[in-house]
Amino acid sequence: MTTLPQDDRSPLPHVDDASAPHWDGLARGVLTLRRCTVCRALNHPAAEECRVCENIPLEWVDIGREVRLYSWTVEVRPVVQGMRPPYVVGQVTPAECEDGDVRLVGTLLADPERLELGMPLLLQPVMAPGSERHLAVYVPA
Ligand SMILES: [Zn+2]
Repeated sequence: MTTLPQDDRSPLPHVDDASAPHWDGLARGVLTLRRCTVCRALNHPAAEECRVCENIPLEWVDIGREVRLYSWTVEVRPVVQGMRPPYVVGQVTPAECEDGDVRLVGTLLADPERLELGMPLLLQPVMAPGSERHLAVYVPA
């Protein structure tokens, strides 16, 4: 079982009607994002119109688990309640995102000394401590 560097005092993401399909996707083990029905661009965070062509509406699609590492940081100080440093937070880009302009944030369960820009990672959602909600966690592919 994968454990997170946090406990049930750590903050949980806010889920609303506009973002619920994304969180439901994490519970099923996949990234679920909005895709434009006209230009096919992925959009995140969920918006009412496409970030590229401004088309309305967008459709929700499962895009799998594969992402690429865009950036990361190692938190060494206790800046968030319930998070036990050190831990790694990263920005990732879905492998399916052709323009690379969609980025998601999550915890990386990896040795920071082995991380490289652009390296392939896999989504491995983990249930948040003290919650029924799944959080985005990424591991080396
Ligand atoms: Zn579009």
